[in-house]
Amino acid sequence: MALSFEQKEIYARNIKLKEVGEEGQQKLLDAKVLVIGCGGLGSPVLLYLTMMGIGTIGLCDGDTVSLSNLNRQILYTMDDIDKLKAEQAGKRLRAANPNANFSIYPVFFNEENAEEICESYDIIIDCLDNFETRIILNDACIKLGIPFVHAGVSHYGGQLMTIVPGKSACLRCIFPHGNVNQPKVLDNAILGATAGVMASMQVMEVFKYLIGLPVSDNGFIFYDGLKMTCEKITLYPLPSCACRSAKLR
Ligand SMILES: [Zn+2]
Repeated sequence: MALSFEQKEIYARNIKLKEVGEEGQQKLLDAKVLVIGCGGLGSPVLLYLTMMGIGTIGLCDGDTVSLSNLNRQILYTMDDIDKLKAEQAGKRLRAANPNANFSIYPVFFNEENAEEICESYDIIIDCLDNFETRIILNDACIKLGIPFVHAGVSHYGGQLMTIVPGKSACLRCIFPHGNVNQPKVLDNAILGATAGVMASMQVMEVFKYLIGLPVSDNGFIFYDGLKMTCEKITLYPLPSCACRSAKLR
């Protein structure tokens, strides 16, 4: 299907990128991307996906907006307090791009609903805030053969990894015994811009995957906003991990 005149105007700056062109923009318009978590990472991720022209976007979050969210969850305002994040985010995003399709899941992602929510998407973005739910997402993606882009943030830094089933190490390879030995984060301190940096990196990965450019699927990237450094650790799948036999669908 050819791009309309309006689409050519809206996405003109995308289309000018030699890696994109009209063909690449059409790939973005045809893509289905799911975002799990509509908070600090999810807010900027969703805005960039929407404005980039992703055709179908899923939003999953069962939480409501609270005052302490507003320093970083840039989809919301004071008017959204105590309302469901997924529904309020959907309203804001529909206004920003009425031509995109939004599927709203105002529920907490869990073992029971994971596969049903994930199964129809091309790629998924992990914008969660806890390890237990990330492992549920990890296992669903490995089983279904769907790539996902993990990120986590705290204070002034964060980490990112794109997991492509059948190729990459997964979160279970990195934390084979769960997070029991990981130091507990005692405070929830975070500068909002830190989430913005990591969210932008997640969208870059999704963009490249959908366009057909190489992604960072072989290790963890660590960003430190105070030192302004980015480092990468190469990782390989654990021989004993279920992801070794996973297949990209
Ligand atoms: Zn693994």
